Amino acid sequence: MEFSFTPAQEALRTEVRSFFATLERPDGDDEAPNTSLERAMAANGWLTMAWPAEYGGRGASQMEQLIFKEELFEFGGSFDFLGVQLAGPTIMVHGNAEQKATHLPAIAGAKVRWCQGFSEPGAGSDLASLQTRAVRDGDDFVINGQKIWTSNAHHADWILLLTRTDPEAPKHRGISMFLVDMKTPGITIRPLIQLTGVHGFNEVYFDDVRVPAKNMVGELNRGWYAATTTLDFERSGIERNLVARRDWNRTYGLLRSGTVSGLASRPAVWRHQVADLFIAVEAGQWMARRVAYLQSKGLVPNYEASMSKTFNSELGQRVADFSVNVLGLPGQLRDGAHAPANGVPAFRFLDARRLTIGQGTSEINRNIIATRGLGLPR
Ligand SMILES: Cc1cc2nc3c(=O)[nH]c(=O)nc-3n(C[C@H](O)[C@H](O)[C@H](O)COP(=O)(O)OP(=O)(O)OC[C@H]3O[C@@H](n4cnc5c(N)ncnc54)[C@H](O)[C@@H]3O)c2cc1C
Repeated sequence: MEFSFTPAQEALRTEVRSFFATLERPDGDDEAPNTSLERAMAANGWLTMAWPAEYGGRGASQMEQLIFKEELFEFGGSFDFLGVQLAGPTIMVHGNAEQKATHLPAIAGAKVRWCQGFSEPGAGSDLASLQTRAVRDGDDFVINGQKIWTSNAHHADWILLLTRTDPEAPKHRGISMFLVDMKTPGITIRPLIQLTGVHGFNEVYFDDVRVPAKNMVGELNRGWYAATTTLDFERSGIERNLVARRDWNRTYGLLRSGTVSGLASRPAVWRHQVADLFIAVEAGQWMARRVAYLQSKGLVPNYEASMSKTFNSELGQRVADFSVNVLGLPGQLRDGAHAPANGVPAFRFLDARRLTIGQGTSEINRNIIATRGLGLPR
């Protein structure tokens, strides 16, 4: 691979920076989607820039999209990962013409929010064990069951849903995927509050929910193959590295500022750790860039995406742990005058626990690296 960007890619980076310079910097410092920022990006086709123009994109390459995301996070922004990076690309690969025409422009225009209904209480890492049932009835399927850990279900207009349509078939071959309107009668959402106190995910119950058969993505009982596409998209992004970099930058800025006390004011105590983490942030960035590079060559990264996901999510935890430790007692404060950086390091310390669980746990991703990457026996 090339460890540099072309002049055209560097020019794009400059253009993207100029675009962000015209916008107001987001207030928050978290990953929550910001509707007005998304609309501004959508108006220029940036939000889904690697999509074809007919669906609201710019037909850009994966490398160009990566450059855009690097600048977006540098600016302090983020985007609706579930629609732009999961549902949209899955519909693009496996959806029919009507599904593409209906859903893709709406996502590209930042007009709808999506959620992902895959995990169940008995089906997380072993996703193919899912039990939510869809039974054909005339022109509809009737859905009953429960999903869990459904991020942003309480904000979502649509859910990308995995169901069991043939309970007799081997488990991977009896699954179908549907696009379900979250306003359909029979859907109940119950909040799950995270360690941080944030309401990020939910339980979603389906009680005789009628979904038109035309909302099935791909073929009956072939939903597993669409789901693995979604999981590949989910693990491929550079966002985890960019979040780790943002956290590292914040702590580095604090340590250099001279406004901190205790251990944090004694560079001899922490300079090696800061340097080590900087090396890791840079290395993790190249792992993520390699994934985009492979995609831009028309290849499908698999164990490479798992390497990037594992390394960068664990790096996010290392940076968060270091930050809270080096800042001493004030580093544990979430608010108040003595909380450094408005309490963000303490928040991130708690929040970072989720990084190595969501989008495939570190153990599951290491299994993929070991078997598909290294050819080790199962
Ligand atoms: C922040 C966050 C957001 C999420 N958002 C969504 C969402 O929007 N939609 C959705 O569908 N899901 C979502 N999830 C769920 C996520 O996909 C699951 O939590 C994840 O797949 C793990 O499943 P589980 O929680 O059932 O754990 P389990 O699968 O029960 O695993 C428990 C432990 O056993 C280990 N383990 C399991 N199997 C193996 C194995 N074969 N080899 C080695 N170790 C193994 C795991 O690594 C883990 O440590 C989210 C999770 C988090 C943390």
